[in-house]
Amino acid sequence: MAHSTDQFDFDFIVIGSGFGGSVSALRLVEKGYKVGVMEMGRRWTPDNLPHTSWSIRRWLWRPSLGLRGFFNIQFFEHATIFHGCAVGGGSITYACTLLPPPVKVWEAGSWRALADWKAEMPRHYDTASRMLGVTENKILGPADTLLKKAAESAGSGHTFYCTKVGIFQPVEGDPAGQTYPDPFFGGQGPERSTCIACGGCMMGCRYGAKNTLDLGYLYLAEKRGVQVFPETKVVKVKPLDGASDGSLGYEICTVKSTAWLRRQPQRFTCRAVVFSASSLGTMELLCHLKEKGSLPAISGQLGKHVRTNSESLIGVRTPGYSEDVSQGIAIGSGVYIDEHTHIEAVRYPKGSDAMGFLTTILTDGQPGPRRIALWLKNVFTSMLRHPFKTVRVLQPLGWAREFVILLCMQALEGEIEMRWERPMFWPFRKFLVSRGEKVPTYIPKANEFAKQFARLTGGFAMSMLPEILFNVPGTAHCIGGCVIADSPSHGVVDSHQRIFNYKNMYICDGSVVSANLGVNPSLTITALAERAMSYIPAAAEMNWNDRAHNDPHRHLLA
Ligand SMILES: Cc1cc2nc3c(=O)[nH]c(=O)nc-3n(C[C@H](O)[C@H](O)[C@H](O)COP(=O)(O)OP(=O)(O)OC[C@H]3O[C@@H](n4cnc5c(N)ncnc54)[C@H](O)[C@@H]3O)c2cc1C
Ligand code: SF4
Repeated sequence: MAHSTDQFDFDFIVIGSGFGGSVSALRLVEKGYKVGVMEMGRRWTPDNLPHTSWSIRRWLWRPSLGLRGFFNIQFFEHATIFHGCAVGGGSITYACTLLPPPVKVWEAGSWRALADWKAEMPRHYDTASRMLGVTENKILGPADTLLKKAAESAGSGHTFYCTKVGIFQPVEGDPAGQTYPDPFFGGQGPERSTCIACGGCMMGCRYGAKNTLDLGYLYLAEKRGVQVFPETKVVKVKPLDGASDGSLGYEICTVKSTAWLRRQPQRFTCRAVVFSASSLGTMELLCHLKEKGSLPAISGQLGKHVRTNSESLIGVRTPGYSEDVSQGIAIGSGVYIDEHTHIEAVRYPKGSDAMGFLTTILTDGQPGPRRIALWLKNVFTSMLRHPFKTVRVLQPLGWAREFVILLCMQALEGEIEMRWERPMFWPFRKFLVSRGEKVPTYIPKANEFAKQFARLTGGFAMSMLPEILFNVPGTAHCIGGCVIADSPSHGVVDSHQRIFNYKNMYICDGSVVSANLGVNPSLTITALAERAMSYIPAAAEMNWNDRAHNDPHRHLLA
């Protein structure tokens, strides 16, 4: 039975309210559609954001353990993946660095030759930058000055740059923390206050200075009538009325994500769906739906070409250094220590010391028992040489005030695969598990750079403990898994981000990114979503017959 549009709860349901989801919601409501956004995470305001990372219940997301924060950590054999979970997606916890990737990324990966990306993307990056309020960071803290000095000593001082960020900064001469009427959207947005350089961006900005999505895209979308359902997890998406290609619309089932027992199941109907649950979230949901038979025709390429930006986290702890290195913004500056290797200076706000449990004395060497032995030797030697200082840097108190995280990203190809399998340790249900070549956790040049940095402060170069013990790198930049391609034999969506083999079904999030970017991905995810939405006609012209363009020979022409 065919439904008329007003028989549906919504024209479009967007799953997830991060970068891809918020862009989709705003652009679709502007085109005249009735839009609902289902978001698993909670809504955050300056009143309920945690003050420090010791407030574990309001920082971490693991509702089964009573943790209802906005920061999710998922452990895989090949990477520990950090991501956001909130109304506003990753923007609540992200460090608001918004960088375009080098143009060479459009010549790599499965999206190569499917569009004239180099001609098309600049205008979408411009729109994304304007909407996210991207501007050059003018607030340099002690960590940034040290990064510059370390780069100069390493011969790469000329590559030092101030990051481009989505932060409302005070103009020169004005005091920080002043409140102004909407400075970004011609008076349509909320009032905002200028940044006070507390370094707390990754704990959620309690001062209204960070350009989170709930103060931008999503704010404007809700103002125009988009309905956002917080703490609502989508568990089922199924074509309606036996039309297996979704041409008669979809049924969406949800549960309350923060409930233990009464999960309050709900059912909605819509004509079209946008998956925007992040790279990991969309892979997980689609794998589950494919396996359960709700969406069996999703491409078998689902979960392939997952990239982690080849990241490694190291750092320097600076006990006794005269300045508080947590001052500034979360990521204030960066350097390129070689053509492929990019390092950013990252910080947490004073008092947010919980991550201190994960850092230890820097250790070189290839993974495995030898590296662990070398690490034990390093700790032991350091204890003998500087017993008090060593104990001090290994305990977490004061960590954020003294620690500069060096986020090292490499624009080198390297990918893993995610599969939906029963892990050995818990054979009762299926989960996403990672497969493929291990991503390197030891980048020798980056370690040398950390040692150089440490010498400048009389401090200690540090590694992440899980990288040494388990040879598992940490990343906040998981991308791919539903990549753009010419056909379902090579990817999950076409170049307009329409899912192959279904009608009126799209993906707008980090899962579609089809090459290693070498820079933080949110600006690219936003620009790609802007582009995908630009191809959707206005509601009055929609024939609800939008399907992926399948051109299996296209890649042969490239
Ligand atoms: C600590 C940290 C710092 C970062 N800093 C930066 C930075 O400075 N610059 C940068 O570019 N990137 C940064 N990132 C990465 C950035 O946050 C992500 O790349 C970005 O948020 C991805 O956007 P997205 O649209 O793919 O999804 P997200 O923004 O992750 O949004 C997806 C949303 O979908 C929701 N969801 C998932 N599954 C379901 C479901 N089944 N039902 C309903 N909702 C669901 C999630 O709760 C989430 O809110 C950082 C990440 C972290 C963790
Ligand atoms: S440094 Fe502090 S005030 Fe500035 S954006 Fe980050 S959290 Fe907000």
